[in-house]
Order: sequence, then C-alpha cells, then structure tokens
Amino acid sequence: MKKIGVLGLQGAVQEHLDMLGRVENVEPVLVKYKSDIEYIDGLIIPGGESTAIGRLLADFELTGPLKVRIESRMPVWGTCAGMIILAKNIANDERRYLEAMDIEVMRNAYGRQLDSFTTSVDLPGLSAGKIPLVFIRAPYVVSVAPQVEILLKLDEHIVACRQGHMLATSFHPELTADLSFHRYFAGMIK
Ligand code: GLN
Repeated sequence: MKKIGVLGLQGAVQEHLDMLGRVENVEPVLVKYKSDIEYIDGLIIPGGESTAIGRLLADFELTGPLKVRIESRMPVWGTCAGMIILAKNIANDERRYLEAMDIEVMRNAYGRQLDSFTTSVDLPGLSAGKIPLVFIRAPYVVSVAPQVEILLKLDEHIVACRQGHMLATSFHPELTADLSFHRYFAGMIK
C-alpha cells in the first residue's frame, strides 16, 4: 500500500482523504504533526487559504521538515492554495512558503467577476473521458522554468504542471467525483 498524506491544517482536507480512499493500493493518512511526515510516501497540500496554511505550517514547525522531504524527492501535489504553497515565486504576494517548484503563480488570478467556475477538458494522458475542473478563487501559473512540464493550459494560462516528483493544479479534483488526478498522483509514487 502507498501511504499518501493530506496536509490537514486548513482547507479541503477530508475531500482529498475521501478521494484517496477510493484509489487502488492507497492508504490515506491525515498529516498534522512533524512525526506524521516520516511515515508517508507522498503528500497532498489541499486548497484553502494559502496565507492560513502557510502560517500554520510555520506554527506546527512543518515548513523545514517538509522542505527536506520534498528535496529528497518525496512526491508532492498542491491543489489551488497548495500550488501557491509549493511555488518559488508569487507574482502578487511577498510571502513565500515551501519554495519547491520552479514556477511563478498569481493568486486569485481570475479576478472577482470570475471568482469560481467549472469546466471540463480532454487530457488523454490522464483519462479516456472528459475531466471536470472546479476553480475557486484560483491561482494560475504565470511562468515556468524549462524543467517544468506543462500538463494543461486553459485560455493560454497554465493550470496544471509537473516538475519531476512535484505536481501542481489550479483546480480542485477532490471536489468532483473524478479520480483521474488522484490516480495520476498515486502513479508518481514508486
Ligand atoms: N485564493 C486562495 C489563496 O490565495 C486559494 C483558493 C483555493 O485554494 N480554492 O490562497
């Protein structure tokens, strides 16, 4: 069994745990404390509020230990606020968190008018059918380093990308019934 953690400080935590519970050969693990980090094979950083998650990461003394595990190539996936937490650069915010992925993101990038929206796409590498995408005050990726693979663009904006063992999505697969991205992430864990 692959033990996949979900960072349980704030945000869509239970939804990710429920999705992982439906993926073959995966044991979902709630991650809150430093000691939890040692026992996981991969980690999801959920959506929520990046400033709150970032502050709690520091309060729970998780920032350093997580950086170490990600540097030693533990697979990690950030959804929405989680993407902001993983980014090395945030175009419209001074704060920095895990600074793991060579991407620059824009917080709340879709503005007030298009606060939240859903759509669906074909992503042949991930699923045979259309994948539903849910965006909630979402960031998108403004630029990536050459070593970052762009998985999906929507209206010219990067909304899913991967850098080796690190995955980031602007949207929330855990708020849909579609397991494609959770299966894909589980596949990144050897
Ligand atoms: N707007 C939030 C932030 O900047 C992210 C929203 C989300 O995760 N759904 O942290």
